[in-house]
Amino acid sequence: MSAKDNTENQPQITKMTARFKVMHQQSRQQVTVDWQTRLSRLEKLEKMVVDNQDAISTAISQDFGYRSPSETTMLEIFPTLEGIRYSKKHGKEWMKPTKVTTGKWFLPATSYIQKQPLGVVGIISPWNYPLYLAAGPLTAAFVAGNRAMLKTSEFTPNFNQWLAKTLPKYFSADELCLIEGGVEVAQAFSALPFDHLLFTGSTSVGRHIMRAAASNLTPVTLELGGKSPAVITDVASLEKAVNRIWTGKLMNAGQTCISPDYLLLPTGLEQKFLELSCQWVSKHYPNIANNPDFSYLINQRQFDRVLGYLKQAEQTGANIEILGEAEANAETGFMPPMVVTNLADDTQLLTDEIFAPILPVVTYQNLEDAIDYINARPRPLALYVFGDDDKTNDKVVANTVSGGVSINDTIFHIAQHGLPFGGVGDSGMGNYHGKYGFDTFTHEKGVFKQSKINFVDMLQPPYGKTFNKLMKVAKKL
Ligand code: NAD
Repeated sequence: MSAKDNTENQPQITKMTARFKVMHQQSRQQVTVDWQTRLSRLEKLEKMVVDNQDAISTAISQDFGYRSPSETTMLEIFPTLEGIRYSKKHGKEWMKPTKVTTGKWFLPATSYIQKQPLGVVGIISPWNYPLYLAAGPLTAAFVAGNRAMLKTSEFTPNFNQWLAKTLPKYFSADELCLIEGGVEVAQAFSALPFDHLLFTGSTSVGRHIMRAAASNLTPVTLELGGKSPAVITDVASLEKAVNRIWTGKLMNAGQTCISPDYLLLPTGLEQKFLELSCQWVSKHYPNIANNPDFSYLINQRQFDRVLGYLKQAEQTGANIEILGEAEANAETGFMPPMVVTNLADDTQLLTDEIFAPILPVVTYQNLEDAIDYINARPRPLALYVFGDDDKTNDKVVANTVSGGVSINDTIFHIAQHGLPFGGVGDSGMGNYHGKYGFDTFTHEKGVFKQSKINFVDMLQPPYGKTFNKLMKVAKKL
């Protein structure tokens, strides 16, 4: 970062810091946030999305060079609205105090947990699903009664422009404010003393976020990435597995944090898998290079990164099969689906998160080998297992640790409100969605309420006979 950049960004950083201070002060003056206020924020978020669906879809498509509008509807607008509506339905119940048991020595006193907003929370979102990964955390922050500052990715300028123009029409700057900017602004943002910081992005940047938050003792939720494996067991219908794996892999051209990143396949099934994959792509994406349902890689940087992986694979003797008879196009960002076999363990396609429609295949002899392969690597965000035998599937699920799992499918565990969504180890920490999101942004305050009748005066000095007798009994029971 040059000195010039520093000067350029400074006014924005100063403004951001001032805004934070105002919001922080307000959050300390209005500690209790009633259901009506929370509901109205959720309703405003919902209305903003409902009113602007076409504008959102257009802006995101401009940012990607091309993003299928159907994908934007299915993967951004629909889950955003679903999440808001679920929180609107259940939030009032979630915020009620919960009664808990009181120790028998303290009865008839009572104990309960009071659910309090944390105050001002920070949300940092990535470029791959600019709406959903901003609005999802915002939903959780709002239902829990917080004010929020949102920092969107610098790689979605059109979406940001739409948001900057639209947000003030729905929200006051006291409840939600948008911060735009590059890395320097993002760094300053993550250094603000938020009451909680939820970051969605890469594992490497996640480390910086945690370091910055540590100096303020700001708790973090880190929604990170990594390599999510799909395992086809030897008792699986290959056709069904191919169908679900490519469905998940090709959403947003593979630029999905829980996209199946690579495949573990029983040895000997490579050719069959490839044939079925070719058939699947031809059926679902005919003329894929000009297919309105297929999205592009977002920018040149991402395109070049993936091209570099492919070149390295080729140079080290891997087999690359393009599905759909189309060539990658650096001008548009179109990258056809590919299956890559015969890869050396240390090639980038097997070490780095791919984030593109490319599926490396790793073969295995015994299921234990596949499990060992997964466990020898950083813990993934998602894991997919395919098979017709529940016991075999359960064996994979029980013996591996990942953020989440879909059995005989990909992606859709993210859409279940009853499930926590988050990573583990290198793929993240903490979680959100539904009640888990409410909990993430809520302080659970333990409250003990003494009764008029109580025996605690017996526990005061000067400690005498009665005290000793009481302690003797207490130690035994
Ligand atoms: P990224 O880490 O490059 O950027 C994410 C955000 O962090 C952006 O807003 C960026 O401005 C900001 N940022 C960049 N450098 C920073 C710094 N030094 N300090 C503070 N903030 C900084 O990620 P990306 O490329 O936008 O997104 C892709 C990654 O996100 C992939 O790894 C993907 O798996 C992951 N992801 C995870 C989830 C999830 O839910 N777990 C969802 C989507 C994407």
